[in-house]
Amino acid sequence: MSTSITVGSARGIPGQITYGSFEGVALPTGGSDDMPVVIAQGRQDGPTLWITGSIHGNEYSGMAVIHQLLGPGGTYFPLDELCGAVIMIPTLNPAGLRTESRSPYYNRGVDPNRQFPAPERTQKNGEDDIPSGLEKAYARLYERIEAHGDYLIDLHNAVLGSIGFAFRDPVYYRDEADRVEVQKLQQRNDDLLDAFGFPIINEFPSAQYLKKNLHRSVSGAVLNKLRRPSFTVELGGYLHVDYAIRDGAVAGLRNVMHWAGMLPGSPEPMPAIPRPKIDYQVRRMMHPRVPQSGIVKHLVDTGDVVRQGDPVARLVDIWGRPIGPENGLLFTEHDGYVVGRMQGEVYYENEPVLWMAVRDDSELLLPFPPDY
Ligand SMILES: [Zn+2]
Repeated sequence: MSTSITVGSARGIPGQITYGSFEGVALPTGGSDDMPVVIAQGRQDGPTLWITGSIHGNEYSGMAVIHQLLGPGGTYFPLDELCGAVIMIPTLNPAGLRTESRSPYYNRGVDPNRQFPAPERTQKNGEDDIPSGLEKAYARLYERIEAHGDYLIDLHNAVLGSIGFAFRDPVYYRDEADRVEVQKLQQRNDDLLDAFGFPIINEFPSAQYLKKNLHRSVSGAVLNKLRRPSFTVELGGYLHVDYAIRDGAVAGLRNVMHWAGMLPGSPEPMPAIPRPKIDYQVRRMMHPRVPQSGIVKHLVDTGDVVRQGDPVARLVDIWGRPIGPENGLLFTEHDGYVVGRMQGEVYYENEPVLWMAVRDDSELLLPFPPDY
């Protein structure tokens, strides 16, 4: 039901776009670091779609996509045709946005996209976790998503010049009966991803996913705790807005609304965005890594399809002389494609040189580990 939606001071009104703020972390100097909220509510009931952006403060494309979907003062938004509601948060991290940094200055060094509520653990680790102010603010926002939210799409940026793509996260079940339910959720999530229409890359495999706390990302928490379809989108490089990818994402979001029955008619054509031509499933991998510190000359670029054994970079010293065996060449051990070149030319030992999507047959419907 999309009636009586409230998110902070924003209140949904049928047939209107309304604005408000959601109370964030309290500041020692007074006031709080509030998140902006926009609610577009149709006259007819229907599903509720959340679109969240810029939880990493130096990633502007989420905010830019929401602004472009709305148009100046909401003039581009197909409000008259809308069934249900779209709740938009242009930034989940105003402090990071103001200071052009990934984390807010009051949680420096902590990834804000790992601070959403985690699935309940069946076994506690003995220590009581004391939540930060940011975790508490996100927990309150999560309650609003739980109250009014059928789908959530969280918008991010990757490395400079990278392609736009959507992540497909693993989904976890507790027992055999639960597995059947979770399988339906996974299918629904796959349909949502297909409706959005960007290239799809599987997230890290199970052990790494939990170790990296990705189940506490915005979309990870909505998918694996709330169990509603949700995914993360990467929209090109940070500190920059790629307008072609932005416009692709705007079309993708409207197409999600068509798929969900929130807009009438068929999906609209997607603007051209890079789509590496492969016929297999892929997952993300930072690869290959430099065996020793040096200067890297990439031999492949964004979108290039590679085969196992292809040379992808050359490592040289500051005088430009190749370092190591094979005349300094670094080879990929995987079939796949280049999502983006890691930024910069100067690399320390074991740093990755490429963000790659590599061939992947791993299962993404998984049991929770025993301590969950
Ligand atoms: Zn991000």
